[in-house]
Amino acid sequence: MSKAVVSALYDSDVFRMACRQFDKAADAINLPEAIRDRTKYPKRCLAVALPIKREDGSVTVFEGYRVQHHLSTGPSKGGVRFHQNVTIGEVAALAMWMSWKCSLVGLPYGGAKGGVIVDPNLLTAGELEHLSRRYMQELVNFVGPQVDVPAPDVGTNERIMGWMMDTYSNHVGHVEPGVVTGKPIALGGSQGRREATGAGVAYLVKKYLSDLNLPITKATVAIQGFGNVGSEAALALAEYGAKIIAISDYTGAVYNPKGIDIQKALTYIRYQRVLRDFDGGEPITNEQLLELKCTVLIPAALERVITEKNAPKLKCRLLAEAANGPTTNAADKILDQREDLEIIPDVLCNSGGVVVSYFEWLQNLSNFYWGRDEVMQKLFAILDKAKDAVDYQKRKFKFSRRLAALTLGIQRVADAKQSRGLFP
Ligand code: NAD
Repeated sequence: MSKAVVSALYDSDVFRMACRQFDKAADAINLPEAIRDRTKYPKRCLAVALPIKREDGSVTVFEGYRVQHHLSTGPSKGGVRFHQNVTIGEVAALAMWMSWKCSLVGLPYGGAKGGVIVDPNLLTAGELEHLSRRYMQELVNFVGPQVDVPAPDVGTNERIMGWMMDTYSNHVGHVEPGVVTGKPIALGGSQGRREATGAGVAYLVKKYLSDLNLPITKATVAIQGFGNVGSEAALALAEYGAKIIAISDYTGAVYNPKGIDIQKALTYIRYQRVLRDFDGGEPITNEQLLELKCTVLIPAALERVITEKNAPKLKCRLLAEAANGPTTNAADKILDQREDLEIIPDVLCNSGGVVVSYFEWLQNLSNFYWGRDEVMQKLFAILDKAKDAVDYQKRKFKFSRRLAALTLGIQRVADAKQSRGLFP
C-alpha cells in the first residue's frame, strides 16, 4: 500500500522515491504502524547560509544542509555532496538510504547526509577551501565523533575532509580525527578508504558473476560516472580481468569495444579534469552508455538515471548500483519483471565505502592503525556476510534483491527503536 508523504520540508521526487521504497518494505515485513513513521522520517536537519569571499573581492552566499536520519544506535554517518542541484529533499533521501545501508552491513551508525548547493568546478582552490571550512564551522555543534561523522560524496574528496577535520579540531582545541572519515592518510585517514567503495562494488560484481556462472575475464563493463567510485570500480574490475568498454562523466561518455585503458583515462582526467575529448574510444552520450550491450552496467554518478523509459532497453546481465538511488521506482518495477537481468541494489552494492569509513573511525578512536591488507580482508568479510544475508532473505520470502536488502536494513533500525522505547 503506498502512503501519502507527509513532509512539507523534504517533499521532492527523490524523497518520495525513498519513502515509497520504505513503505513497500514496511508492508512486506508487516512493520507495526506504531513504529513506521518513527523509523521512516529523518530525525533532524540543519540548514546554513555560507558567505564566502570570492577571489574577485565579491561575496557569495551558498546554502548548505545536514540531515540526520536516525541516532538510535550510535552516531549518524554519511557523505557531504557539493553539487549545483542539491536540495534538502535529496539530502534527506540520501540520509534514509544511509540508515538502511549501515544497518544492513551491521554498523553501529544511523544514516546522515550533507550537501551544499554549489558547482565546485566553478570555484578556485582557495574558494573551495573557504566554503568547506565555513560549512564545517556552521556544523560544529551538530556533528562530532559521537554525534554525526561526515565523509566524502559527489563533489567532495580527501582534501576537503582534511580541511573539515582541521576546522573542527581548531574549534574544540585538540586534534579530533574521528569527526570525519575519508581523510588524507597523514591526518588519520585509513588505508584503503579512497578505493573502498569502488573496490567493494567490484568485489560484489565478481561474486555475483560467479553465481551466474559468467567468467569475469569474459565480462564487459560500462560505467556511468568516472569519479571516486566509478574509477576505482573500473581499476579493480580491470585488475580482475574484466574489459571496461565505456566510461563517462558529466561532459559525456567514451566507448571502446576493445577495452578502455583505465590508467590512461585517469592520467587524462588528472590534467584535463574532465573526460571530454579523451581519445581512448569514440564519443557517445551518457544515455547511450546506459543502453550499451554489456555484461555489467554500473551507474556511479547520480540518482534516478534508470527510468521507466530506458529500463526496458537495458542490455546488461548485471546492474550494479554503485550510485545511491540510480533506479526510479517505476524502472524498478520493470526490471523486476525481467528475468534476463540481476540487480545488486545500492544499499548493498556501494556499502564498502561506509564500512571502511567505520574502520577509519575505529582507528581514530583507538589511535591504532591497520595495514591495507587487514582493511581489505575485513571489508570483504563484511560484504560476504551482507551478500549472503540478502540472498537468503530473497530466497526465503521470494523478494526482489532490493526488497530483501531494504527489509533487512529497515527491520534492524525498527527493532532498535522499539527496544529503546519512546522517551516521554
Ligand atoms: P565524484 O564526485 O567523485 O564522481 C561523480 C562522477 O559522476 C564524476 O565523474 C561526474 O562527472 C559524474 N557525473 C556527474 N553528473 C553526471 C551526469 N549527469 N552524467 C554522467 N556523469 C555524471 O562522486 P563519487 O564519490 O564517485 O560518488 C558517485 C556516486 O556514488 C554517488 O551516487 C554517491 O552518493 C555514491 N557513493 C559514493 C561513496 C563514496 O565513498 N564516495 C560511497 C557510497 C556511494
